[in-house]
Parts: sequence; C-alpha cells; structure tokens
Amino acid sequence: MENSVSDYRLIDWGIEQVSKFVPDDALVDVEPRMEITTGEGKGIYGYADLIAGEHIVDLKSGGIAPEPGYRAQLSGYALAYMEDTFRDYVWCHELYIDAKYHRYYKVTIEEARETVDSIVSAHLDPDSEPVACSFCKWCKHNLTCPALVDGIEEEDMTNFDLTKPQQLSEALVLAKRLKVWCEAVEKAAKTHLNNGGDLKGWRFQKRSGRESVDPKAAHSELYSRMGSDKFMEACSVNLTKLRRIWSEFYQEDLPIEDLIKRSKDTFALVEDKTNEPK
Ligand code: SF4
Repeated sequence: MENSVSDYRLIDWGIEQVSKFVPDDALVDVEPRMEITTGEGKGIYGYADLIAGEHIVDLKSGGIAPEPGYRAQLSGYALAYMEDTFRDYVWCHELYIDAKYHRYYKVTIEEARETVDSIVSAHLDPDSEPVACSFCKWCKHNLTCPALVDGIEEEDMTNFDLTKPQQLSEALVLAKRLKVWCEAVEKAAKTHLNNGGDLKGWRFQKRSGRESVDPKAAHSELYSRMGSDKFMEACSVNLTKLRRIWSEFYQEDLPIEDLIKRSKDTFALVEDKTNEPK
C-alpha cells in the first residue's frame, strides 16, 4: 500500500479498531507466517497481518466481501495458531479499511479444522475442478486457470440481451472472470518490462510517487512565515480522528457537526454469495 496521506488515515482507522480489543501492553506479532501441514505432509502457509492473544486480524482493502467473507483464509491462520498455542478458539477480525467496516467472529479449533480439511481435500481431489471466485485476483494460477479462461472463445458476447436481468447477471459473471484474467496479463506484462524485457508495442513509463508531509512538522516550519490562515488553506481535516480526539476529552457532541458536508453516497457492485464456491 502506498503511503499517501489518505492511506495513513485509513491505517489510523485500522489501528483505532485494533486498539479497541487489543490492550496497549499486549504482545503483538506483525505479519507472522502461519503454516499448516496437510495429510500428505505438505506445508501450506500464509501471513496474517497481526496476531495478539486470542485475536487474529487481517486488513482488507476494496469492497466488503459478502458473508462468509474471508472466514476460510482466517480459519487457516487460526488453525495454525491454535495448534501452536494450544488454544480452543480465537477471534478473527476482517478490517475493511476503505469501507471502514469491521467484521469479526469466533472460530473454534474444531470449526477451523473442518474448514481447512474440506478445502485441502477438495484441492487434493484429482477430479475436482477450480471454480472462479472473488479470490482469483490474488491467486498465482490466475493467468492460466481454466476456471477463468476456458470457453471464453466460444462465448458470443453480442448474444447477451443486457436488458434482461438474467442475461445481464450472466454477462456480469463473465465480465468479472475476464477482468481478473486481463489484470493478471497486465501485471505479468509490467513485471516483464520492469525486469528489462522487451514487449512489442509497449514500454514502461515511470510515474512519480505520491508526496506527503508530516502536518505538525510543516506547520511548525511555516506558520510563523505564512501565518496559520494561509497554512490552513492547504489542510484538510480527518473527521474520524477529530471526532475520536474530541470524544476523549469532551462529553458533548462535536460542536461543528452542522458544518460538516457529506458528498453523495456511492454504491459498489459486490458479488452475492450464491456466486461463491462452497
Ligand atoms: S484462479 Fe481462481 S479458480 Fe483458479 S485456482 Fe486460483 S482461486 Fe481457484
């Protein structure tokens, strides 16, 4: 994640949420490698974002995944952690920093084991077929996976009557499947160019990274020269943080609530769980 000012604000929200259930003096493990061993003795691993006591936290960006969310992924971390630390249960937290949404649930060792075993046995079953889902964009097989690319050439896109909800829904599933593959191809091309390779008709163009500055340091350097009024013209206020700081010191509501403007609500297209594989 790039460190733009707005990203820091989102991360601040994540830290604020974590501080609600993890005490200040708790031991916190950041990005621990969590590994489970399958029946065949193979290790499967991933990196949880944060583990503290009975809490496992994963930060998510983008839209809110519909139920069951990332329960399967977090159950993998949970199983490894519970086996290592002899726990019977943990609390799993999905922190959607863009949407500022916190989903959490308790996972027992039996539930975690059942979830992991069913995924591993489906994975090891030679007759099982991959099914496209909302996790394909992170999968290392997304350039070649048959669930994304098989049958695409046989589809005649012009046959969809997009005024009919059923056909619109089918076209959307196809479009999402293609989009994942297109993005995987683009990523592979960027990696190729970045590594110094040639790609006919394409070249790499460097873009400057986003700039940011510590507002306290900037204010202390500049306010005596340009005055606070001029300096404030270049500032914006993090309302979440302002409300939190205000509520720490004052009982009444923030007295500027009636000055706060809200932009139009936006809507995201999220997959319904009937499209998710079991
Ligand atoms: S690309 Fe999607 S369907 Fe294919 S293996 Fe990966 S997660 Fe499964």
